[in-house]
Amino acid sequence: MLDIQNIRKDFPILQREVNGKPLIYFDNAATSQTPQQVIDVIVDYYSNYNANIHRGVHSLSQEATDAYEQARLKIQKHFNAKHSHEIIFTAGTTHGINLIANGFSSLLKKGDEIIVSALEHHSNIVPWQMLCERTGAILKVIPMNENGELIMSAYDALLNENTKLVFVNHISNALGTINPIAYIIEKAHAVGAAVLVDGAQSCPHIKPDVQALDVDFYVCSAHKMCGPTGVGMLYGKEAWLNKLPPYQGGGEMIAEVSFEKTTYAGLPHKFEAGTPNICGGIAFGAALDYMNAIGFDAIANYEHELLDYGTEQLLKIEGLKIYGTAKEKTSVISFNVGTIHPYDIGTILDKMGIAVRTGHHCAQPIMDFYKIPGTVRASFMFYNTKEEIDAFITALKKAIMMLS
Ligand SMILES: *Cc1c(COP(=O)(O)O)cnc(C)c1O
Repeated sequence: MLDIQNIRKDFPILQREVNGKPLIYFDNAATSQTPQQVIDVIVDYYSNYNANIHRGVHSLSQEATDAYEQARLKIQKHFNAKHSHEIIFTAGTTHGINLIANGFSSLLKKGDEIIVSALEHHSNIVPWQMLCERTGAILKVIPMNENGELIMSAYDALLNENTKLVFVNHISNALGTINPIAYIIEKAHAVGAAVLVDGAQSCPHIKPDVQALDVDFYVCSAHKMCGPTGVGMLYGKEAWLNKLPPYQGGGEMIAEVSFEKTTYAGLPHKFEAGTPNICGGIAFGAALDYMNAIGFDAIANYEHELLDYGTEQLLKIEGLKIYGTAKEKTSVISFNVGTIHPYDIGTILDKMGIAVRTGHHCAQPIMDFYKIPGTVRASFMFYNTKEEIDAFITALKKAIMMLS
């Protein structure tokens, strides 16, 4: 059992009002809120040991380096990576995906095939389209059914000896569907293809074990799991990371530089050109500490209760349709009410202090599938409550009355 009232005290932002009403924050799938424990780490860094890492002999630089590398070890342990140099700090999920897409430019040839899923975020579609343009590779898409589940028999049929890469999100941000990635990885490996999993939506709710999954690459963003924006991680199997060329050139990623030839640094520095988001990386580690102290099993159980309760209450509203009814899903509810535009509902809810997402959620192909312009999306984290869901339902009913 989680002590939600105590947990809520860790989040200063949850104490504030919006438009004269207590804030109800249901936009967690876009970014999560930050607990005081993580804010303290950020303040401590800039107050006490802000310095550039790796290059300095002075004490501050060494303290900053130690804290940054400590954070890398925390991330390694959290995801159960075999080596710490398999953890690359990035600016976030989008950056991690682009790093891999860029790296594969030199490994793919005309006629090779890349498989993505119909449930992808734009950041997981566009880089592959660009990669296909550069290399002549072909993009294939795993289709989905009406419930928002990927159709595995169609996936099986897409795989062949030309398949080089499979890219799929672990959990869909628009619908909350949990994808069967263990199956997807196993089948891809059977034809010799590598798999990158976008974990932006899974990492806030579950604790992936990259070795047990045998996944080749896994990416996520700190800001969706109680950390700051602008930082994330890329996990890659050592052998793959050694095979891929560096992404950006600059300081920190080199071994030796002359105008004739530059040799690259070893892992992980080969992929970490320039001064990184040092404070962000350290705070990312603190966010993992915070969530692990609560415990991912407890988090998942409680969020599932919120999902069931929210779904049940919403379905009592006449004319309301939920998009994404997969058997396996997390605490994301996408819906529309009759022909009311999602944007109008979102605007009125905001006047009542309630933050939800409206629009296509960077997943236009999913909206095209359902032939809708967008949805209202309420997404819950472990610091949300059933009382907040009740207040949200009351406010939503008011909004519907005003708009119909
Ligand atoms: C949020 C999100 C992204 C993009 O994350 P950034 O932090 O903006 O780079 C990618 N994929 C999914 C599934 C997401 O939810």
